[in-house]
Amino acid sequence: MSFKDFQLHQKINAGVAACGYTIPTPIQKEAIPPVLAGRDILGLAQTGTGKTAAFVLPLLQHLLKGPRKKVRALIVAPTRELAEQIHENIGQMAQHTGLRSVAVYGGVGKQPQIKTIRDGVEIVVACPGRLLDLLNDKAFNLRAVEVLILDEADHMFDKGFLPDIRRIIKQLPRDRQTLVFSATMPREIRHLAEDILRNPVTVQINHTLPAPTISHALFQVSKTKKTALLKNILTEREMASTLVFTRTKHKAKSLALQLQKAGFSAVAIQGNLSQSKRQQAMDGFRDGTFKILVATDIAARGIDVSGITHVINFDVPDTAETYTHRTGRTGRATRNGHALTFASHDDNKMISLIERNLGKKLARERLPVLVNEAGGHVSEEKSESFSRGIPSRKKPSTTGRGKNRSSKAASFDFGVGRRQ
Ligand code: AMP
Repeated sequence: MSFKDFQLHQKINAGVAACGYTIPTPIQKEAIPPVLAGRDILGLAQTGTGKTAAFVLPLLQHLLKGPRKKVRALIVAPTRELAEQIHENIGQMAQHTGLRSVAVYGGVGKQPQIKTIRDGVEIVVACPGRLLDLLNDKAFNLRAVEVLILDEADHMFDKGFLPDIRRIIKQLPRDRQTLVFSATMPREIRHLAEDILRNPVTVQINHTLPAPTISHALFQVSKTKKTALLKNILTEREMASTLVFTRTKHKAKSLALQLQKAGFSAVAIQGNLSQSKRQQAMDGFRDGTFKILVATDIAARGIDVSGITHVINFDVPDTAETYTHRTGRTGRATRNGHALTFASHDDNKMISLIERNLGKKLARERLPVLVNEAGGHVSEEKSESFSRGIPSRKKPSTTGRGKNRSSKAASFDFGVGRRQ
């Protein structure tokens, strides 16, 4: 099957070609025909499946007919990063159509957003808080909206946005097409979907399984040796673009700082950063200025950097679903990706859950010989099962000239780091 089979307008096909897409992903094959037919959709799909194009392409086809310079489509997303990404994706796919979108989120000035809307856009991609803010200010209204799309609905629920979503929906015309996408289906989202969707088509794509293009490995390591292990792996392996997950904001920040001090090209993204610093860190990671991004789950949700080669669970995730979300950041579309998880004995239960969900065991990797800051060996603890592993012969580099190191990295600002 090819994109031609959807019989999209040639201006849209030109955008698809510019994005480099040739074969539709499973969610695109399943969702595009019913959306084109005007049906409501409940899409169960994780990030990384190509769901953005699955809703954007038929939306553009719909908007090509009808008036311009009116807000005719509303896409609601839980995070600024996701709203920005969807907006950018629309920019690529709609580049030959003359259709315009705007991203609306907090943490930046309202006026440029209001001006863009008043100058004339057809699609608003918004986070709930800022959208309600602008609606309360009567900056614009939603009376001409024909299509509503809720993306990552489960995450909106996690963030406490459902009351805001219901407030927004009250301002929309009843007669509209509605699409809801969610990676998981908690009860609250099912209720919301029942309330707002009319006779929907349900499209479900492996919603609890990570993409098959990802390899999964496990290092059994005590908590105190995780940083040394991370530095060893980053030094010894070819890792073009690595996303490291920590449990807390504090750890994300301090770990990125430790990596920077050791000469790695690393940056942290966590909830406390200003919007411009987050964007700077994201842009730097996306364009390869930073090879390593350290993040918490909240900060990383929805991040779409298509070239991520490795995801490292420095801290084991709290749920098997979170493991899926995290590892779904690598192995995007058809690329191969690698997920490495650091687990101590305390994590055994969660590892079993993750393996049950995955339907297979994570491949156990042997711990290499670890060295501390002073170049001495980090001693093994007898209680750890990894101590049975045969150490690697290769001595890790401590010179700062490893594969993922940057000679300039020591001058990075911790938190976001300066672009070099
Ligand atoms: P999404 O799930 O929408 O975040 O998309 C995940 C990644 O897959 C993005 O980097 C898209 O640009 C890419 N993508 C989407 N559709 C296709 C396709 N048909 N072929 C190749 N890559 C795609």
